Amino acid sequence: MNVDPLALLEAMAATVRAHAEELTALDQAIGDADHGINMRRGFDAIVESRDTLAGLPVGQMLQKAGMTLVMKVGGASGPLYGSLLMAIGKALPERPDLAAVAKAVEAGVQSVKQRGKSEAGDKTMLDVLVPVAEALSTAVEQGEAADRLLELLPERAAAGLEATRALRAHKGRASYLGERSIGHLDPGARSSQLLIEAVCRTLGGRS
Ligand code: ADP
Ligand code: MG
Repeated sequence: MNVDPLALLEAMAATVRAHAEELTALDQAIGDADHGINMRRGFDAIVESRDTLAGLPVGQMLQKAGMTLVMKVGGASGPLYGSLLMAIGKALPERPDLAAVAKAVEAGVQSVKQRGKSEAGDKTMLDVLVPVAEALSTAVEQGEAADRLLELLPERAAAGLEATRALRAHKGRASYLGERSIGHLDPGARSSQLLIEAVCRTLGGRS
């Protein structure tokens, strides 16, 4: 799996662009109809800064990209995805193996929990990120092959996303709706699932 980390960021930006309207529509139902706009603004800014990212070690690249999200995105999702990428980047050694990636992803998810003061079950992006990070750590401990991981993680992400439909939101704008947040997918969970799918597809050599 020798993929340029810049290609991963570009794949993330491409899926955000392709699904921006859908993300905004999901946020229209239980938020303020800007999630797709926020995500596109942030990931477009990352792609625009590609010349300053190219050639950096993966950890530094993710830290810079995360900082861009924090600076460019007004909504809650900018600082949350920003801290995810920054914490993953900070934890990654220059040449990470799978175990190092799993640890870094755990650190990233931890940082989202801290910044959001939230947990899985609150109907947020964490309902996708937490089970995916856990599945990654468990699979690496069990010596699962990388190819298998690239199938398993998107499946786990899709299941986490679908589970948000039945949840009542306890964090973010959707929590203002109380019971009325039930029955809708969480927009941030959908963007997390899309990002994970795009990363796994790119790592697997599929575009
Ligand atoms: P805003 O809510 O400020 O308009 P966005 O619409 O871009 O920002 O992002 C909304 C998404 O952010 C939600 O769907 C949810 O997944 C995520 N989110 C909001 N608050 C939190 C939080 N405290 N912890 C984790 N995720 C959160
Ligand atoms: Mg919003």
